[in-house]
Amino acid sequence: MSELDTRSLTAEQALGLLERKEVSGAELHRAYLDAVAERDDELHCYLRTVDAPVGDSVPIALKDVISTKGIETTAGSRILEGYTPVFDATVAARVKAAGLSLLGKTNTDEFAMGSSTENSAWGPSRNPWDPSRVPGGSGGGTAAAVSAGLAPWGLGSDTGGSVKQPSALCGNVGLRPTYGTVSRYGVVAFASSLDQVGPVAKTVRDVALLYTIIAGRDPLDSTTAELPESVELPESDSLAGVRLAVPKQVADLDAIEPGVRAAFESALETARGLGAEVGECDLPLAYRYGMPCYYLVAPAEASSNLARYDGVRYGLRVEGATYGEMVDRTRDEGFGPEPKRRIMLGTYALASGYYDAFYGQAQKVRTLLIREHRDALAGFDAIVTPTSPTVAFPIGDKAADPLAMYACDLLTIPSCLAGLPGLSLPCGLSEGLPVGLQLIGRQFGENGLFRVGHALEGALGFDTVPERSR
Ligand code: GLN
Repeated sequence: MSELDTRSLTAEQALGLLERKEVSGAELHRAYLDAVAERDDELHCYLRTVDAPVGDSVPIALKDVISTKGIETTAGSRILEGYTPVFDATVAARVKAAGLSLLGKTNTDEFAMGSSTENSAWGPSRNPWDPSRVPGGSGGGTAAAVSAGLAPWGLGSDTGGSVKQPSALCGNVGLRPTYGTVSRYGVVAFASSLDQVGPVAKTVRDVALLYTIIAGRDPLDSTTAELPESVELPESDSLAGVRLAVPKQVADLDAIEPGVRAAFESALETARGLGAEVGECDLPLAYRYGMPCYYLVAPAEASSNLARYDGVRYGLRVEGATYGEMVDRTRDEGFGPEPKRRIMLGTYALASGYYDAFYGQAQKVRTLLIREHRDALAGFDAIVTPTSPTVAFPIGDKAADPLAMYACDLLTIPSCLAGLPGLSLPCGLSEGLPVGLQLIGRQFGENGLFRVGHALEGALGFDTVPERSR
């Protein structure tokens, strides 16, 4: 027991220990909670932990947008303070059914709106590679927890990058699945046509393993589909015959830091060394119109989804002389600045008279992005880019500048709008901080991403344990 080192233990290794009865589920759970007790005052990954293990398998952390029966779920917002769901989200029920034991609920930007966790009403999480820096967001709590060994794996939710980007900034592997492969039932809604729950872990195989547990049709979410093929755990370390495409626009994106570019390019060399062909594709609309399109579609859907927080049905209620006053006060005190900004943006974009010019237009752009990605992927197995234009930035750096914060997702957003799966894996360091590589596949192409990701990961040999905790 004493030799259990949660900083480097993968979920697959933990499963092996359990199978050989070298450790019990309860001992594993305890080991992670001990690590939480040691580190989480500083890192603030968890909003709350669960003391008693519920399952006897590997423990897991869940982003606090995932409803958990009997356990407070706030989505990082004061307006949900005290809200204790009476049911489990389908993904929570599935991990429970698989025997995974819940370690706790992890920090997130309020309603998953943000790229740094600084928008959490409960204060930011910190990056284990450098605690003066953000872990990314919105799922920074899960990413920082996995990186620091406070959870072997976890679930996040990705609307425009919130699984991929924090995974990149914390040196983890993260998957945003194909839209519709993972149930959104019981997941606090941000933008329903974009939200997808996805796994975060230390290895591609762990991510694939967790994906097998959560994916597949759910009768409680009519937008889900059965997987056309079962998930295969990747084995091969060769990329022979694999065709990767770098969008030619990536070369001209000034937002990409030189150190990120260098790590990305050296990973492409590694891919070539493994037998991959690296070509070029054309995504002329993606990086020009992806962001503006997303910042119309996502706030529009959010403004509608967030209308349900009225002081009656969930969490916070601030009394007033009339019903209307009570609702106004509750929403005024309950929502932080970012959800308010998005509610206003979205309401404006949907207003009669503006609908066609903004929301309608954005939906047309979205269709073009879908076509553009489909064409680009016709001759290739995956599109490859850096995940984030920058490494983890200092806490406070972008907090006062919403547009700078939005720009963090320049590279992750377009494929989200297209509904496509994306896998981020660490590909090196810049300034001593992890750099993420993003692989974008065809619809339902997760197996292909796992194969490429696993082979690359083996050859890159990235040490996922943050330097300062080695
Ligand atoms: N950072 C993006 C936003 O603020 C994406 C967030 C997400 O994927 N949930 O909307």
